[in-house]
Amino acid sequence: MKKKAKGSPAHRNLVLQGIAASPGIAVGQAFLYVEHDLEPEPRVIQPSEVDSEIQRFRESVERASQYLKSSKEQLPPSYGKDVGKILSIQLDLLQDEFFLAEVENTIRQEKLDAAYATFVVFKKKKEKLLAAENEYLRDRAFDIHALKKLILKNLMGEPAPLEVGHPAIVVAEEIGPADMVRLHRQSILGLATNTGGRTSHTAIIARSLSVPAVVGLGNVTEKVENGELIVLDGYEGCLIVDPEPQVVRRFRERKKKLVVYEKKLREESRLETRTRDGVPVQVAANIEFEEELGSLKEVFADGVGLFRTEGIFLNRDSLPTEDEQTRVYREVARMVAPNPCTIRTIDVGGDKVLRWLVYTEERNPFLGWRAIRFWLDHPQYFLVQLKAMLRANEPGNIRILLPMISGLEEVYKVQELLAEAQRQLREEGKPFNPEISLGIMVEIPSTAILADLFAREVDFFSIGTNDLVQYTLAVDRGNEKVARLYSYFHPAVLRLVEQVIHAGKRQGIEVSMCGEMAADGRAIPLLLGAGLRHFSCASALIPEVKKIIRNLSVAECRELFERLKGLKTTQEIREAAEAFYRQKVAALVEVT
Ligand code: PEP
Ligand code: MG
Repeated sequence: MKKKAKGSPAHRNLVLQGIAASPGIAVGQAFLYVEHDLEPEPRVIQPSEVDSEIQRFRESVERASQYLKSSKEQLPPSYGKDVGKILSIQLDLLQDEFFLAEVENTIRQEKLDAAYATFVVFKKKKEKLLAAENEYLRDRAFDIHALKKLILKNLMGEPAPLEVGHPAIVVAEEIGPADMVRLHRQSILGLATNTGGRTSHTAIIARSLSVPAVVGLGNVTEKVENGELIVLDGYEGCLIVDPEPQVVRRFRERKKKLVVYEKKLREESRLETRTRDGVPVQVAANIEFEEELGSLKEVFADGVGLFRTEGIFLNRDSLPTEDEQTRVYREVARMVAPNPCTIRTIDVGGDKVLRWLVYTEERNPFLGWRAIRFWLDHPQYFLVQLKAMLRANEPGNIRILLPMISGLEEVYKVQELLAEAQRQLREEGKPFNPEISLGIMVEIPSTAILADLFAREVDFFSIGTNDLVQYTLAVDRGNEKVARLYSYFHPAVLRLVEQVIHAGKRQGIEVSMCGEMAADGRAIPLLLGAGLRHFSCASALIPEVKKIIRNLSVAECRELFERLKGLKTTQEIREAAEAFYRQKVAALVEVT
């Protein structure tokens, strides 16, 4: 199916590819939500008008605040905390005196009217955020954009009515959280936007409200007519304009099956996970942002197996304070108690740069100043994170996880720092729970090889296959030119994984896996066969992973693993794993 221009006679079946932001399929009429022109003409004002324009700007900000507050108050309880939190973030931004002063200075110094000054300052801020390296930060640009629109609407009059009136798929340039809440009230079928990323607030809200959504479609608002029939596929991240009847039928049937399948899957997720032959298995969640917490209960996650804390550090100009970090860690720990809450100390460096520290260019960043190496060279910051974890550990379920450990010295140094963190907290009279487990990511071959030694020094292992594969096979995990060489079915990787599991078992410590391998239906039988009993993956994948595990027996998996261990090449192992998958797993999880 080729891409064609809107309005062309053969507009049928136009496929637009975007980013899958929220799963689900929607078939229905498009509601084109195009707001009135929000690009004010530059207007130079007289010095005598400065004060009144500043006053107009302040009043518009106040009205925008009221609008956000009332949206927040109208939130039905079913919306969970995420949506309210997002509205609070926008409210906080509107109270940022420093930022608002920029607009007032522009009015005063450049003699521009309130609308144009708002337009210029907010646009600059948005562009700065969009140029950020970090995806999460880039997504925050949409909050600024949403606020700009709200203020401009107030300044320029005519707030666009947001009445869809009938169940429809909303197609918009982008939708701010406040509008999103109002839209959802009107039972929208789905959402398609020109802009946005996987972690943009609109995407997060769409997921938490279970509205299928595709974002980052480029120019969908120019390709779709109001009232036109469209199909939105939130799994594949695509949208089909004016689909043929057989395409509609196909999607409607798939949707019916998926709805039934997912409902059942989530219901079953409540069951304790045991293999067919009765072996209990834990399936925990990998999370990156606080916003994801809401979904953990729905999928009955067995706690958090990996909380990547980088998100807290990257999205800002300064180190998050001990109190701020304590609040976040405490919230996550309380939410999942009494299940374990595994919080990984920061894993920056490589491609993730902290704005508040000066970095030097590195020739091999993934072999460089990353994760634990970086943190141990900045003990003053590391201590802040350790103290926050100790203070947050009231429920007693927090476990500290150290990334990129390559030698025992690093563990010893962290143990010393942990003792120092406790000493400082005692001195400062801050209450904390000293009973905290310390574990390591096993993601560097040296650590996997020495797993028996490490097992005597730490409380648990978490195998990070994403890095273990790249470091074992010398294949950059982000380089598409060598992607065909990147495989966890390589015999060397399997041998290391088995060795780590056995070393942990012999010492009686927990061995978990949080790399992507743990959620791959082709790899799960092998992992069970190798003895893995703790899996951790993105929360949306948990119900399916649990289902696969419940339908396998350890005995058959062990037999499979022993057989595949004897094979010499990645290709042979992958083919054998796929054959087993087709025979035993595919029918459980593939909805066609
Ligand atoms: C891993 O390396 O497998 C892992 C889970 O960590 P990350 O993907 O954050 O490097
Ligand atoms: Mg890693």
